[in-house]
Amino acid sequence: MSDELSIDEMRAEVNEHGVLDIDQAEELLSRLEQAEQAVARVREKHSPVPARYYGTDLNPHRKFDCDGCGEGSPWPCSNIRALDGDTRG
Ligand SMILES: [Zn+2]
Repeated sequence: MSDELSIDEMRAEVNEHGVLDIDQAEELLSRLEQAEQAVARVREKHSPVPARYYGTDLNPHRKFDCDGCGEGSPWPCSNIRALDGDTRG
């Protein structure tokens, strides 16, 4: 089992002591960096590409498809919307 503190435990630590110790702060920054890199990888994978046949009878309205989800999947896809805070799925 990891001895890593959860975010809630770190929050409790800050509330109790007013600060994190340097090891906790370093760990928090490392975890933040990893989370930011994970989000960037998802955003890169699910980037917009021009939709085929946009503006024609075959595709009158969908300007972009999601590169990660594939042709015909509108961008922003549910992955990008979730990253942007949309909880509707
Ligand atoms: Zn996608």
